[in-house]
Amino acid sequence: MSKLSEDRKILLDVKDFSLDLVTENGSLPVIQDISFQIKEGEFLALVGESGCGKSVCSLALTKLLPSNLAKYKSGSILFQEEDIIKMDNMSIQKLRGNQISYVFQEPFSSLNPLKKIKDQIIEAFLVHGMGSKQEALDKAEYLLEKVGITDVKQRLNSYPNHMSGGMLQRISIAMALITDPILLIADEPTSAIDVTIQAQLIHLLMELKEQFSLSVLFISHDIALVSHMADRIAVMYAGEIVESGTIEEVIDSPKHPYTQALLNSYPSTDNLSQELEVIPGIVPSPIDYPIGCHFEQRCKYKMDICRLKKPNHIKLSESHSALCHLLEGKEK
Ligand code: SF4
Repeated sequence: MSKLSEDRKILLDVKDFSLDLVTENGSLPVIQDISFQIKEGEFLALVGESGCGKSVCSLALTKLLPSNLAKYKSGSILFQEEDIIKMDNMSIQKLRGNQISYVFQEPFSSLNPLKKIKDQIIEAFLVHGMGSKQEALDKAEYLLEKVGITDVKQRLNSYPNHMSGGMLQRISIAMALITDPILLIADEPTSAIDVTIQAQLIHLLMELKEQFSLSVLFISHDIALVSHMADRIAVMYAGEIVESGTIEEVIDSPKHPYTQALLNSYPSTDNLSQELEVIPGIVPSPIDYPIGCHFEQRCKYKMDICRLKKPNHIKLSESHSALCHLLEGKEK
């Protein structure tokens, strides 16, 4: 059962949002008409194969994509009821790294190899005028302990290249928390980490979410991984959200053929002898998105209409919806 009560306030409300990326091949519709919400204290997983648009979506949420390449086409991104798309640069900068923080896949790329850890970890605290340098250092020590770093004083005076990937990702998480964010966006935060450390980092994120009352948007290609930690899940395919709902609705009773195929491509602990499904083909490029259903070329249930007409979002319950012609007539 979902741990969230229905009366929690909506923190992030993405509505009918579309974005094009300008490339040498023209303007490509990388995000098409997506909608999702994150409530206070909620853990939402955004899943799908590489190339589905998850990372572009996460960067677009706070306008982190280069402004000359990202064209916001339609819809809104309401954070605490204010539309981020309409905010000026100064307001966005106040929000980003303050109320909304990021943890990225590759910790080496988010840390400067030429600067000591302590100077990097306190930077956002000082930039956002949250206190003195000593207060920033005290908070950095506190957070490093919280994320399980030992010999904190020594680590603060070290450079990133003296540490392992797992330790640097813990430091990236501490760095993301130093401004007391209310929304943490974690983009495949464990993918570049040794598999033996991944479970520890996931466990740590779950603990921190509770301790700091965080809302989390967790981006992953691994639907099996997120099924153990998220409250709700949105499945993304080729620039669209094809299914969303509570973990119970989507994992126990998936309705979209892509979600079903993704789940069947991972071994289940309930049925270890089950044959794993391979999804034929690859995710289409935005330059080649089909006219009808984006999953049509890979779907084993496709019908003539799927090639010709875009499916609508079918509401299956208050919290569960999916984008598929097969579900027409099954609306709640
Ligand atoms: Fe498959 Fe058609 Fe549903 Fe697309 S709309 S997922 S092609 S059945």
